[in-house]
Amino acid sequence: MLNIRIEKTTAPKAKPTDESQLGFGKIFSDHMALIDWSADEGWHDARIVPFANFSIHPASTCLHYGSEIFEGLKAYRTADGSIQLFRPEENARRMINSSERLCLPQLPEEDFIQIIKELVKLDADWVPHSDGTSLYIRPFLLGNDETLGVHAVHHALFAVICGPVGSYYKEGINPVGIMIEDTDVRAVRGGTGYAKCGGNYAASNRAGEKAEQKGYSQVLWLDGVERKYIEEVGAMNVMFKIAGEVVTPALTGSILPGVTRKSCIELLKSKGYKVSERLLSLDELAAALENGTLEEAWGCGTAAVVSPIGRLAYKDKVFVINEGKIGEVTQMLYDTLTGIQWGKIADPFGWTQKVD
Ligand SMILES: *Cc1c(COP(=O)(O)O)cnc(C)c1O
Repeated sequence: MLNIRIEKTTAPKAKPTDESQLGFGKIFSDHMALIDWSADEGWHDARIVPFANFSIHPASTCLHYGSEIFEGLKAYRTADGSIQLFRPEENARRMINSSERLCLPQLPEEDFIQIIKELVKLDADWVPHSDGTSLYIRPFLLGNDETLGVHAVHHALFAVICGPVGSYYKEGINPVGIMIEDTDVRAVRGGTGYAKCGGNYAASNRAGEKAEQKGYSQVLWLDGVERKYIEEVGAMNVMFKIAGEVVTPALTGSILPGVTRKSCIELLKSKGYKVSERLLSLDELAAALENGTLEEAWGCGTAAVVSPIGRLAYKDKVFVINEGKIGEVTQMLYDTLTGIQWGKIADPFGWTQKVD
């Protein structure tokens, strides 16, 4: 158990009045959680304090050498007014794995969950009420040694900020257009692809921008070694329904193990669908597109839950999937997962946790 010092704000901010205009990641609550770590003292000084700018040494490791990882999860308000989290232990465990990869200190799972629950309880009034809205929680961990020397991290800071976010699908679920990226790669086996680190995002920006300029909303990443196998779509995992079977790329080390991905797989299996986690080549996908056996395609991640793919562009060819409409399985996953998250349907898997 962490001993958390709480310093409440004396100047609470005005909460947004129009929940239809929340957007994503623009508004932050009144408080933030912090825990320091040093090689000498371990984790210490856990605290929840008023949300404010950091003061950071200009030579701080994270600013120069990318020693930074993060997580993303949501708190949902249920019909009875209570607040719940969705599988926070999965985020805690993934952050431990990301820490291990980047040689950052590992925050115990129970401490991660405890301080997030404390923060959400304190800022409970910031959890919005409207349909589809939630409190987005962003834990992150950075190395902050005050030296330009390149060496293992001896000082680190774990922080959690949060804020209300709008419904991802204000105008209904519209399938998106995706461009297959065959030049840039996001990650390679042996690299940091399975870690949720800022560096992976920095490496993704150029292709993302290129896709946007061409009128596509995300890129479909191919593996970094052979540029042959499908990996992820934008910052989401990806799934396809091919000839009745749901196929998603296996976790080969360059793919981020999404909590939504895992939940979709478990849900599909519980409903009797055939699901396989395996290598899926671009050739196989193209053949399925051409012979009509590709029935559905969707991305999955915490922000959108699922995002149906309606168009897929490769070089000069554009394929349309399921007539550009959301498919039956994609819709079922969306309805079931959001139903459990917002407490509208039963949670037979024990995925949700109340914050108090
Ligand atoms: C966070 C993330 C995902 C989705 O993970 P969830 O836990 O489902 O939100 C997928 N791919 C990348 C690259 C990510 O950073």
